[in-house]
Amino acid sequence: MPTPKEFIEKNRRKFIDKWFEALRIPSVSAETDHKPDMRRMAEWLADLLDGDLGFAAHVIETQTNPLVFGQSPEVPGAPTVLIYGHYDVQPVDPLDQWRTPPFEPTLDDGKVFCRGADDDKGQSLTHLFAVKTLLETEGKLPLNVKFLFEGEEEIGSAALSAFLESEENRNLLAADAILLSDTDKPAADRPGITYGLRGVVGYELTLTGPNRDLHSGLYGGSVQNPVTALCAMLAAVIGPDGKIRIPGFYDDVVPLSAREREELAKRPFDEAESLAAVGLDASFGEPEYTVTERRGARPSFDINGITGGYQGKGGKTIIPATASAKFTFRLVPNQRPEPLTRALESFFRDRLPAGVKMDLAFQHGAGGMVIPLESPFLQAAARGLSSVYGEAPVFIRDGGSIPIITKMKDALGADLILAGAGLEEDGIHSPNEYFTLRDFFLGIESSAAILTELARVKTGG
Ligand SMILES: [Zn+2]
Repeated sequence: MPTPKEFIEKNRRKFIDKWFEALRIPSVSAETDHKPDMRRMAEWLADLLDGDLGFAAHVIETQTNPLVFGQSPEVPGAPTVLIYGHYDVQPVDPLDQWRTPPFEPTLDDGKVFCRGADDDKGQSLTHLFAVKTLLETEGKLPLNVKFLFEGEEEIGSAALSAFLESEENRNLLAADAILLSDTDKPAADRPGITYGLRGVVGYELTLTGPNRDLHSGLYGGSVQNPVTALCAMLAAVIGPDGKIRIPGFYDDVVPLSAREREELAKRPFDEAESLAAVGLDASFGEPEYTVTERRGARPSFDINGITGGYQGKGGKTIIPATASAKFTFRLVPNQRPEPLTRALESFFRDRLPAGVKMDLAFQHGAGGMVIPLESPFLQAAARGLSSVYGEAPVFIRDGGSIPIITKMKDALGADLILAGAGLEEDGIHSPNEYFTLRDFFLGIESSAAILTELARVKTGG
């Protein structure tokens, strides 16, 4: 029997052809014109799962775009891994910035240019081809594998969120670990595992004063100005030290362990370079945490937009009738949006001056997640990656939020393994998205190695 690496080497052409087939289906979830393409893409995946892998696979109808589920023949006593991916892609606008047709995969200088080349068709397929590789080199899989693909990751994952509400569906998806590639690795030769994601919660605060804009000469100094009040209330939320001053805000924050701080410090990061890239010469934030920690493992507060009063040409001497601001918090485990909403409401009420009314509107929210570094599944995945790259993966806490991933973890109670195969420079969501052939094949090899290691984890069941 060939080794997985040899098998992948021999079947490069076949894997590329299959990948290109998937890329040619323009499954843009945001555009209703592509409805039929979503179905085609879902059926294509189901066919690959049952035809090529011998999985029991089917397309699951939903209110919106279908889900695709497939399951390997049972391997008694072995762990179960659920591999997640999304088959929908971002729109291609602005079309004139593409150097090649966005849905015709084009190989140039070792890179495959196409929408979805990386995010997430390319990355998802690495796992499918890894399973194929294990089947062909070992004769059978060493563990139970389930695949789940959704077609709405880029537009909010409504169908999958609804699917997770039912116990029957959760039983169908039940797994010891969830494996996915929808993040980046730190460098071409350095693997990474994203073991934490921040949550996010968004609000709009509106203050209303007089029933119309007032003349500031007639009323100035005698009535409350809603814009001034809004500025004072918002400024009270955060201190110059980056600390959020809402009582109880940090109560549920799980402190960073010494081990985590050590791991996070291993991520290659040049602060001066990172600042220079955005035209800055100074950082902001909690002085006792590194910039990497502030970005991924500490909560934050940002005003996203502020509106009120006259903003046209020249000046206008008024006291505005209203003022409003949109702002978000990035949350870390175990902070939840609900208690924050209550604390925020009373924090602002306490600071609301006489003469203005307030309305705090909750817009959206999801908690963050973190997998303990000691997780046997995380450690197994790390061993798999090390064996392929000859280097241990960097453990990353990503500052962004992927609400559906956090939801799946909570619904299934399984550890997440986010092992990105692509790189930040692949330009996902941008014109000329690409995935290098090298990363694609390394992704297949890595996934096969990760699955082999996961199969060795004792689950007690
Ligand atoms: Zn994605």
